[in-house]
Amino acid sequence: MSDGREMIPSYIAREKCGCVVGAVVDDPDHPQRTKEGLLEFVKDGLIIERVTVGWVREHGLEQCVVHSTMETEEE
Ligand SMILES: [Zn+2]
Repeated sequence: MSDGREMIPSYIAREKCGCVVGAVVDDPDHPQRTKEGLLEFVKDGLIIERVTVGWVREHGLEQCVVHSTMETEEE
């Protein structure tokens, strides 16, 4: 199933253990929201990677047991 959004860039945030605990779509219509999301990740000391919406959909977010206090937020 495709709605054409798979190739839209998205940022993910990884814990040092490798768990993907956050994601924010690099939505050109909401640059402020993207920026705020990234600032949150940086503040939390997460490792940011640039992927795509399709990647996030396929991979999903993880509930890290080590970092269970982390907030996970989907778009
Ligand atoms: Zn983890």
